[in-house]
Amino acid sequence: MEQNPLQRPTPVIFEHSREGRRGTKIPKTDVPARPLDELLPKSALRKAQPALPEVPEHEVVRHFTAISLKNHHVDKAFYPLGSCTMKYNPKVNELTARLPGLGDLHPFQPTSGVQGAFRLMWELGEMLREIAGMDAITLQPAAGAQGEFVGALLIRAYHTAQGNPRKKIIIPDSAHGTNPATVVMAGYEAVMLESNAEGRMDPTALEAALDDEVAGVMLTNPNTLGKFESEIETIAGLVHEAGGLLYMDGANLNALMGITRPGDLGYDIVHINLHKTFSSPHGGGGPGAGPVAVKSHLAPYLPIPILQRDEVGGYSLDWERPDSIGKVHGFWGNFGVLVRAYTYIRMLGPDGVLDTARTALLNNAYMSARLEGTYQLPYGRGMHESVFSGAFLKEHGIRTLDVAKRLLDFGVHAPTVYFPLIVAEAIMAEPTETETVEELDRFCDAMLQIAVEAKNDPEFVKNAPYTTPVRRLDEARANRQPDVRYKGGHG
Ligand SMILES: *Cc1c(COP(=O)(O)O)cnc(C)c1O
Repeated sequence: MEQNPLQRPTPVIFEHSREGRRGTKIPKTDVPARPLDELLPKSALRKAQPALPEVPEHEVVRHFTAISLKNHHVDKAFYPLGSCTMKYNPKVNELTARLPGLGDLHPFQPTSGVQGAFRLMWELGEMLREIAGMDAITLQPAAGAQGEFVGALLIRAYHTAQGNPRKKIIIPDSAHGTNPATVVMAGYEAVMLESNAEGRMDPTALEAALDDEVAGVMLTNPNTLGKFESEIETIAGLVHEAGGLLYMDGANLNALMGITRPGDLGYDIVHINLHKTFSSPHGGGGPGAGPVAVKSHLAPYLPIPILQRDEVGGYSLDWERPDSIGKVHGFWGNFGVLVRAYTYIRMLGPDGVLDTARTALLNNAYMSARLEGTYQLPYGRGMHESVFSGAFLKEHGIRTLDVAKRLLDFGVHAPTVYFPLIVAEAIMAEPTETETVEELDRFCDAMLQIAVEAKNDPEFVKNAPYTTPVRRLDEARANRQPDVRYKGGHG
């Protein structure tokens, strides 16, 4: 086979470097030079010149473009990574986030000079509160996982004020791994509750698990199987009767927004993953935002400072909250992500928010209908995502991992695999609302073709992928000891 250009080794940028090459020529300064040690303390001066590549501008551009093509991203092709809501991120979000009046702000500017930014944060908070059906909100947390942690600290603060912080938080066995991690970090014991045959929380099982040491219940909705927790009102009643609080992991809000509201369903707390539902580029550890919205009985405990608006429309920060759990992020949160979410919601408007959720459900219904005759759906179709099982391929010696790897040859990112843990050989696909029917067909055709290949030529599938920059990696080692200087061959 002719070598795939993607598989050619890419030099690191330093290997492009030749002495004297420059991107830009800066005119000679007419300001008289002064020795550096007159301007800076000696301890701040470099001992040697910094090691910088000397490369003309176009080579820099080509270098990074070449690298970006080796990677997969949502601007390149479909990215059905279940639970992560990898929707297309409209470029207008980037435009507003870079407006000088927003992008060039300094967090130490006096509050009188950042009233516009505060107004944006205030209005975003109001829109999110409305979407969530809650009474108060903080925009500070930097991610969903940190939102969960804030939520668990709010639960602790609330119970402590009642005289007993309590000991346990109940989580279903379908939950995202961050849920039990959060609970333990907040000093609670995570109690796992088995889901019922429909993949939902069983109110009878919950009732049996509730006692006066249960501080709360964390329940994603729709849950990680994509199923709406249809007993949610009964569940909320039971939790509250036992004196506990009900927390919603809102990572799947893309399926619900505009249709129903966590607050109306009986939840006390919800976090919202702005980078998922409200579209900022995410993955790879980039910045996110996980605002936490609460009912009024939890408002006193929210992180400080609280943004407030006075009667004449000015904004200020309230630091005088004696019951607050404290500060959870530098300054006021990841502001750039807040600007993107604000832009996105304002662009959609209320009808657009509802349409977004409905289209996400429609796209998943279409994808699931096309695949379910071949791939099993142990818990049935989900709302915005479905969890298939690749267990039927075992008779050909093929695992879900092989399907995921082969999919890469079709130019799409693999779905989430082996999660949630309660589905054997799980394949969790989330199409999101932004994909066209043609794109969904392309994905489904690929999935169906792979099932045929698995039967007819399992060795071929087991050795996939063939067209990617690297093939099968030791994934743990690739993360811990990244080798950026790719040398070709089987990675
Ligand atoms: C993504 C996700 C989280 C964690 O959110 P981060 O923003 O990645 O920290 C928690 N729960 C569910 C269900 C998720 O999909």
